[in-house]
Amino acid sequence: MLLPKFDFDEPATVSEACEILAEFGAKAKVIAGGTDLTVNMKKKLLSPERLVSIARVPELQRVDASSTMLKLGPCVTIANIAESGEIGKRWGAICAGAKALGSPLVRNRATVGGNLGSARPAGDMPPSLMAYGARVVLTKKSGQRVVFLDNFFRGPGLTEIAPEEIMTEIQVDAPPPHAGAGYINLGLRSSCDCNIVNVASYLVLEGPGGPIKEARIVMGCVGPTQRRAVSAEKALIGKKPCEALFTRAGEAAMTDSTPIDDFRGSAAYKKEMVKVLTRRTLAAAFEEALKS
Ligand SMILES: Cc1cc2nc3c(=O)[nH]c(=O)nc-3n(C[C@H](O)[C@H](O)[C@H](O)COP(=O)(O)OP(=O)(O)OC[C@H]3O[C@@H](n4cnc5c(N)ncnc54)[C@H](O)[C@@H]3O)c2cc1C
Repeated sequence: MLLPKFDFDEPATVSEACEILAEFGAKAKVIAGGTDLTVNMKKKLLSPERLVSIARVPELQRVDASSTMLKLGPCVTIANIAESGEIGKRWGAICAGAKALGSPLVRNRATVGGNLGSARPAGDMPPSLMAYGARVVLTKKSGQRVVFLDNFFRGPGLTEIAPEEIMTEIQVDAPPPHAGAGYINLGLRSSCDCNIVNVASYLVLEGPGGPIKEARIVMGCVGPTQRRAVSAEKALIGKKPCEALFTRAGEAAMTDSTPIDDFRGSAAYKKEMVKVLTRRTLAAAFEEALKS
């Protein structure tokens, strides 16, 4: 399969890239690692007239982990995130998502911004980032806006990013004391396979051992976009964490999910796996919260 013809720009700065996008709008498409976009172009699902590569813009490659916040440039590779001790120490579930993504070859090219931009319901990075309450900065020639990931995905392959905008930063607050998170993905094979179900959970406890002050559970592969398990989250608030509570939350998460039957599994099987992964990620989040 050959790529269709396109013009190619390689700006050196964000403002240069924004100028190009302002001029060409929907005729142009941003490309980072290209592991998703070029596949779609070869399949003729997308045929932009112009590709604007942001891979060599230094300000989009930064990782800045301060005491209050993690700021990730969208062009940070999945491999760099998977291997980062700095990120793993406080945002372990983000590293778990990165480690689960594809093969070493894919992880070396694929970027975190590209994973969000591709908006796949089975993507490995959205659940953990959403569970930590992440937001993205979208920049265009005339200004910037900040969008929470909860409001970012519009459907498979569709996001809030307007044709003239570039995602220029991903921001994640540092978890407070007594907080923890977990991410688990289920696929038929351990790598290079689309997930059947994936779940990330995040818990904040009032103090050592509980009760639960804050809970966010994010499920993938259960609808057109990643989805919060809202009734499961409600079932946790104010309660003392224990295995029985996590099992009940898993059961509630099943009712929050609307998966479909497909060749990867039946809707009933996926719902059952939502229950299991919710329980397990909550247990992992609690274990981490006890240590923090
Ligand atoms: C063999 C193989 C295995 C894979 N396995 C997995 C897997 O296990 N899990 C998984 O989640 N994914 C997987 N993928 C999909 C893909 O690798 C990831 O989604 C990857 O993170 C995409 O990043 P990228 O930099 O290559 O994105 P690109 O292909 O460059 O871009 C993807 C989309 O995001 C947009 N975009 C990128 N960056 C920006 C930005 N800064 N601002 C605005 N828009 C932007 C692009 O315009 C495009 O629409 C796999 C792909 C392949 C080919």
